[in-house]
Amino acid sequence: MTGITVLAGGVGGARFIRGLLGYLAEEQRSTDGPGSTVPVTVIANTGDDMWLTGLRICPDLDTIMYTLGGGVAEDQGWGRADETRRTSGEIAAYGAGWDWFTLGDLDLGTHIVRTDLLRSGRTLSEATEILARRWQPGVRLLPMSDNAVETNVRLAADIDEHRAGDLIHFEEWWVRYRAAAPATEFVQVGLEHAEAAPGVVEAIRDAEVVIIPPSNPVVSIGTILAIPGVRDALRDTDARVVGVSPIIGGRVVRGMADRCLDIVGVESTALGVGLLYGSRSVGGILDGWLVDETDAGVVADLQAAGIRASAHPLWMHDVPTTAAIAATALQTAGFRAAYPESLDRQTIADLGGTS
Ligand code: GDP
Ligand code: CA
Repeated sequence: MTGITVLAGGVGGARFIRGLLGYLAEEQRSTDGPGSTVPVTVIANTGDDMWLTGLRICPDLDTIMYTLGGGVAEDQGWGRADETRRTSGEIAAYGAGWDWFTLGDLDLGTHIVRTDLLRSGRTLSEATEILARRWQPGVRLLPMSDNAVETNVRLAADIDEHRAGDLIHFEEWWVRYRAAAPATEFVQVGLEHAEAAPGVVEAIRDAEVVIIPPSNPVVSIGTILAIPGVRDALRDTDARVVGVSPIIGGRVVRGMADRCLDIVGVESTALGVGLLYGSRSVGGILDGWLVDETDAGVVADLQAAGIRASAHPLWMHDVPTTAAIAATALQTAGFRAAYPESLDRQTIADLGGTS
């Protein structure tokens, strides 16, 4: 057993992992513990991926890579810092592309290189490894699958050129319609032919700790869990599996994950998501579940469902507060290197950076 494995979507996952790496580096510096020598593997959702104007776009992989590599537009949480939009203006002038989905000039560089690699026969795993050589994210970054598995949304009513019952790409529903177009279900197109990418099942099975960060439970984590072998690996691993609630006080914090939960009939609460994931003792995926301190009232219900739950501040305000959440997750998992009590806020703050 070795290392920490994290299943992640985009912004929520990336920010959590940045805090985790910050904690590990600080733990090593202040206690001479294993800290940043602990390998971290990230299994990223690729269900949001799509082809657009001839290019393969992988939103969650790129958000993780830019965030950990220091290139992210910090205020929006995705895309590149100091971005310009000249090329997408040109594409729009031809009436091509999707005018509601803007691609920055710097970001397009990534998509062009990735597409070139894919067209020359590399797998998405290989392309991701090559792109990550530039960004040095400090983790082993794996796509959940090398096969295209794209999350689609089935519309419940006519909207623009679409008819009720049509499937549209998740990104169109999310970005163009702000997740407000009535819908009946999510469909993972391509799932029937998909396998987990090389290393994914092993990274879960052989991990010392598995963390489910505060990512969208339906279209980020749920999509990864749908890949054949992933749930089985979570069930069979000797690692403890600990999750961090993306819902605080019945609110999604950022974004519109509550609309995704509505569609699958799950209440948008820390309890609802905890029970959706379920206890490993009854075939679910969680040993432990961190809820925000404002949700302390549901801890007993979660415990009754067989999940080791506890309440802590879960707002990822900046790297230090996120490092403290990561430390709590590791401690809950009984991780050998987790000594959060040895870290006062000032030493964590010395990590610098805000999010
Ligand atoms: P996406 O792919 O960019 O949508 O990002 P993810 O799937 O990784 O995560 C999105 C989720 O992160 C949102 O739905 C929020 O519920 C959650 N989130 C964002 N910021 C915070 C935070 O500060 N604390 C917690 N607990 N959750 C957060
Ligand atoms: Ca995403």
